[in-house]
Amino acid sequence: MSKDYLMPSYNRAPLSFTHGDGIYLYGDDGRQYFDFTTGIGVNSLGHGHPHVSAALTEQAKKLWHVSNQYRIPQQERLAERLCEATFADRVFFSNTGAEAVECALKLTRRYFDVTVKPERWRTIVFDGAFHGRTLATIAAGGGEKYMDGFAPHIDGFDRAIFGDLASVRKLIRDDTAAILLEPVQGEGGVRAASDDFLQGLRKLADEFGLLLILDEVQSGNGRTGQLYCYQWANIQPDILATAKGLGAGFPVAACLATERVSLGFVAGSHGTTFGGNPLAMAVGNAVLDVLLAPDFLPSVQSVSEYLRKCLVGLAHKYPTVLGPALRGRGMMIGVPAIVPNTLVAEALRHHNVLVVTARDNMVRLLPPLILSMAQVDEATIAMDAGCASLLS
Ligand SMILES: *Cc1c(COP(=O)(O)O)cnc(C)c1O
Repeated sequence: MSKDYLMPSYNRAPLSFTHGDGIYLYGDDGRQYFDFTTGIGVNSLGHGHPHVSAALTEQAKKLWHVSNQYRIPQQERLAERLCEATFADRVFFSNTGAEAVECALKLTRRYFDVTVKPERWRTIVFDGAFHGRTLATIAAGGGEKYMDGFAPHIDGFDRAIFGDLASVRKLIRDDTAAILLEPVQGEGGVRAASDDFLQGLRKLADEFGLLLILDEVQSGNGRTGQLYCYQWANIQPDILATAKGLGAGFPVAACLATERVSLGFVAGSHGTTFGGNPLAMAVGNAVLDVLLAPDFLPSVQSVSEYLRKCLVGLAHKYPTVLGPALRGRGMMIGVPAIVPNTLVAEALRHHNVLVVTARDNMVRLLPPLILSMAQVDEATIAMDAGCASLLS
């Protein structure tokens, strides 16, 4: 290729794919890869899931898009099912994670505006956070490489230390409106908030009349072995943003909220052209059919435990390559790399396993939730070879 027509905002691996099937991707190099990247936690049901594919093609023959000027029955149904399965009473659908977080931030402002406390508008966020790439969400995330060159930055975010309740309390002021965090930080090093920390934040929010907003764009939709990660901690947020796995590869995002908070929005407060269209909603409903089947999440829990055990085994076998102090929850797994994590990711790719990296030199695994025990064994053999190739 002599000229690049794509904007130079990505460093891409020299690899593309012709098709996918279940947990596998097939490269243009003729090789079969274990897809433990899943498009960064998106292809939660692997590739070409028969139930989801059927729902998509059926709906594609009937109706794709009508706009939110009309009732969309598939959207009403998905909203009802998400509310039945969670803390929420109301849902706003959009297309991307950043939009769902943006919706949460806008809803927070409207909520305090209509409850006649417009002086409350600031949000407490955390070190290592990632909330998306819009101007507001890069400011909420605060990552230097995401903010570089985009000044002036959106104001209104105060940064606490992830896991440190006292640091949050110290930041609460008369103009604080909300606390926003990922229950498991993805980009920020696969750091899981403890149940104690989440419960402590809920108490602090109640004590000071703040909203607790969870960004479950990555940790949601079965990724940690619960439908949403907060369910491990037995707490209820006020607002929850989600996306990635909800459409299993089709762009679907949602902002969930309680009745009380949702009444911040009135007709015209917020909108979207594409969000919640019939095609996206048919896919979202099909994904939920799979996630909510009685044995599905328990199986995610047991297979992810087994995968973690195998990874710890590899860390003990190759202590100069990987560390045994795994992070994350369920199928959101961080393995500390001893050599640079990019080297590990490359070595694994050469041995047919696709993984992501994350901060703190983590190798991040986001396998499809349909992974079986036998496939863990296969993948462990491949990863073993990848680790061995790094011994000098
Ligand atoms: C990926 C991600 C986002 C942004 O989602 P986009 O669909 O890329 O806009 C926001 N928050 C978290 C926690 C994410 O992992």
